Amino acid sequence: MKKKITGRTKIFAILGQPLEHTLSPVMYNEAFELLNYDGVYLPCPVPEGKLAEAVQGIRALGIRGGNVTIPYKEKIIPYLDSLTDEAKLIGAVNTFYWEGDSLIGANTDGSGFLQAITQFHPPAADFPEAVILGAGGAAKAVGVVLALAGYKKIFLVNRDRKKAEELGQTLDSIGCKVDILPWSDPGLEKVIGQVPLVINATPLGMNPAFPSLPPIPYESLNEQQLVVDLIYHPTETLFLRKAKERGCLTMNGLAMLLEQGVLSFGMWTGIEAPKEEMEEILRRWL
Ligand code: NDP
Repeated sequence: MKKKITGRTKIFAILGQPLEHTLSPVMYNEAFELLNYDGVYLPCPVPEGKLAEAVQGIRALGIRGGNVTIPYKEKIIPYLDSLTDEAKLIGAVNTFYWEGDSLIGANTDGSGFLQAITQFHPPAADFPEAVILGAGGAAKAVGVVLALAGYKKIFLVNRDRKKAEELGQTLDSIGCKVDILPWSDPGLEKVIGQVPLVINATPLGMNPAFPSLPPIPYESLNEQQLVVDLIYHPTETLFLRKAKERGCLTMNGLAMLLEQGVLSFGMWTGIEAPKEEMEEILRRWL
């Protein structure tokens, strides 16, 4: 049945550019339909240099909430009224919602990750240490939330040392110690073998036509570890396959994608998202 849009329909939006491949409109519109919720979620591609006007448009048109994606997750911050504490620490926003007359920026990527791993791994495990490969946006979100959850030590492996140092300072300010290692560091062998949680937060492995692999000593991985790839398409990267061969528990990025979506949905609608159905929708589309 085709959705009826009326004068009462609430409008939600995703801002980014390009948006042709985003799964969010499908996931949220189907969720609205399932719940019989009178809402519509629209892709709003924002041309370069037009972000300020786009946010004014959100305010003027009474858009109830939504998401922000590449390349505006950081650039949108000056145009919002305030940020959640997590978004402040991460320095990026993937969700916006209203609190009274204030337009608030939040980041649900990290919390989505934390929620996703709880099925395997308690948030503040006995041995709260992790290795994060990469120091970009996703690594920041995951690192900050792990540090807030009580992780005491995080090893960051990144090409650009300065970027890793910036993230290291933020994590340190939350009480989490950081060691920064280049990919070629001989010490990586020991670290990779002893830390219970290893996360790929780089895009290495995303292109199935050229299955690249983060260059870590895979032979050090063992069955005591949870290995997570934030990539959700392909569903099993070479990185995860190698970890599975070593007996590790593995998880791809789908659960994080789902959980961040569930959290965002709750923030802008105030109602509980239909999680199981949203997972089904994502699996179908992927
Ligand atoms: P960014 O561009 O912000 O960061 C990418 C990181 O990967 C940087 O640290 C970069 O290193 C590193 N990197 C990129 N190419 C290489 C390479 N050839 N060799 C070594 N390191 C490399 O991307 P995001 O953080 O936004 O995304 C990272 C991954 O996480 C993507 O695959 C994305 O799809 C996934 N993701 C998944 C989500 C989910 O919900 N499951 C949510 C968000 C992201 P350097 O700093 O040295 O350039």
